[in-house]
Amino acid sequence: MFRNLYPDNTAASAYDIDYKSLYESGKRGILFDIDNTLVEHGADSDERSERLFTMLHEMGFKTCIISNNREARVKRFNKNIGTLYVFKAGKPSKKGYLKGIEMMGIRPDQAIFIGDQLFTDIYGANKAGIDNICVKPIAKHEEPQIILKRKLEWIIYRFYRRRVRNA
Ligand SMILES: [Mg+2]
Repeated sequence: MFRNLYPDNTAASAYDIDYKSLYESGKRGILFDIDNTLVEHGADSDERSERLFTMLHEMGFKTCIISNNREARVKRFNKNIGTLYVFKAGKPSKKGYLKGIEMMGIRPDQAIFIGDQLFTDIYGANKAGIDNICVKPIAKHEEPQIILKRKLEWIIYRFYRRRVRNA
């Protein structure tokens, strides 16, 4: 059940992922959600996120932001980072993911997607056939509709963990 909603992997944070191993396993490009994945919803880039991109580029990764937000918001976050980006990506449609991969000039199997929401981020990545990691949201204050979504995610996670245990 819910197969397309299950992440390939989970992590506590985008800042707590072994990127070196990903590179060694053949990954060459990383697609990132912004809000609640790299920074709090609506926030500018901070030192931590800027350092992450610098490190990834030094390791040899291509990177691309893929956000459902408007271009102005994505540009503001990207000001000190200067990575590729897809705005109004329309996640969970697979279009934005495939566009990001094309921009990075890599094959889908060389890409990894990192985001915080099962119903948009992970669902879309699975539909696009891109390996993915779901991270815990950075959020501090969340809107009521997001809180409802989190509760539904919690239910999916229960099935997911059960499946992982029984695998
Ligand atoms: Mg997000």
